[in-house]
Amino acid sequence: MSELRFDPIRNRWVIVAPERRLRPHELIRPRFLATPDPSRCPFEPGRESLTPPEILRIPRPDGQGWQVRVVPNKFPALRVEGTIERRGYGPYDSISGVGAHEVIVEHPDHDRELADMETWEVEAIFQAWRTRLLDLRNDTRLRYILLFKNHGLEAGASIAHPHSQLIATPIIPEFVTQELAACRRHFRRKERCLFCDVIRMELEHGERIALESPRYVALAPWASSFPFETWILPRTHMHDFAAAPEPELRALASIVVDVARRLRALLDDPPFNMVLHTAPSPHPRPGHPDDWTTLEYDFHWHLEIVPRISRIAGFEWGSGFTINPTPPEEAARFLRDADPDGGTDA
Ligand SMILES: [Zn+2]
Ligand SMILES: [Zn+2]
Repeated sequence: MSELRFDPIRNRWVIVAPERRLRPHELIRPRFLATPDPSRCPFEPGRESLTPPEILRIPRPDGQGWQVRVVPNKFPALRVEGTIERRGYGPYDSISGVGAHEVIVEHPDHDRELADMETWEVEAIFQAWRTRLLDLRNDTRLRYILLFKNHGLEAGASIAHPHSQLIATPIIPEFVTQELAACRRHFRRKERCLFCDVIRMELEHGERIALESPRYVALAPWASSFPFETWILPRTHMHDFAAAPEPELRALASIVVDVARRLRALLDDPPFNMVLHTAPSPHPRPGHPDDWTTLEYDFHWHLEIVPRISRIAGFEWGSGFTINPTPPEEAARFLRDADPDGGTDA
C-alpha cells in the first residue's frame, strides 16, 4: 500500500506509491507514448471491459454510447479502501495512502485533443469533474480533490487518448495550502478577495490579459514561473468550481478551448498540464476551528495551464526558483495576437 511521508527538512509531503513502478528498468523514462494508435488503447469505445468498472458515464447527446467516462485508475497512487492511520517515527511522520485516483476519459475519439473539441464536448468534461468533486466531498477522510490533465509525454501523459485525472488526498496539497493561506491572510486584513483584487488590477492594466469573455479572464500571472503559464479565472467572485452553474461551465469550456488552440498554434502543440485549484472539502478539522470560516469569501477558484516547454534543471531543483525566459507581458501579447485556427508555421 502506498503511504504519504512528510519530509521535516523540506516541510512537504511525498506520496510513496510502490504499486505504480517496481524495478529500475521500468523507471527508465519512456521515449514514446504507450498506445499511440487506437488499436491497443484501453479507452476506446467497445473496449470498456479493459478498464476497472465505470464510476460515471455522460452519454452522447444522440444517445449513441458515451461522451465521457470516469473509471478508477488501474495503477492508483492512492486507494479508496482502508482507514487513515497517522504515525510518527522520531522526526518522521506518515499517513496511510488512502485516497482516490480516477481517470476521466474525455472523448470517445482517440485523436481528439482538447484544442480540437467543440465547446459542448469540453463542457461535458467539466460536468464530469464537477460531479466527481461533489461525490468525493462526501468522504470525510479526503481533504482535497485535485483535478488535472497531462497532455503529451513531457507533461506526464502515458496514454495518448484524451483524458484527465483526479487524485483525492487525505491532506491538502502544498501549493493549494499556500494559496489558501495567502487568500485567508489577505481577506482578514482587507475584507477583499486576493484573486478579485488581482483580476481588477490586471483588467485595468491589460498588458498581462491574454483573453477575456463576459464571464472569464485568461491572464499571464505577474510572476509566471514558466513561459506561457496561463490562468483562467471567473471574473466574478466564486470560491468553488463545484458550485458553478451550467452556463458558467459552457463559458469556461469556450475560453479553455480558445487558449488551447492559441497555445497549439504558437508553440507547435506543446505538452502541457492543466490543473484546477478550487476550494477544499470543507470538513471541520480538529485543531483548526477557523480554517474555513471565511473560505466562501477569501478563495477564488481558477484553472492553471502550464506548457511544459522549459525544463526543471539544477538551479530550479537547488533553489526552488524557476527562470522564466518569456516575460508574462510578452506571452499575453502573443496569445492575444495568435490565430486560434492558425497553423504552427504561420
Ligand atoms: Zn484511444
Ligand atoms: Zn474573488
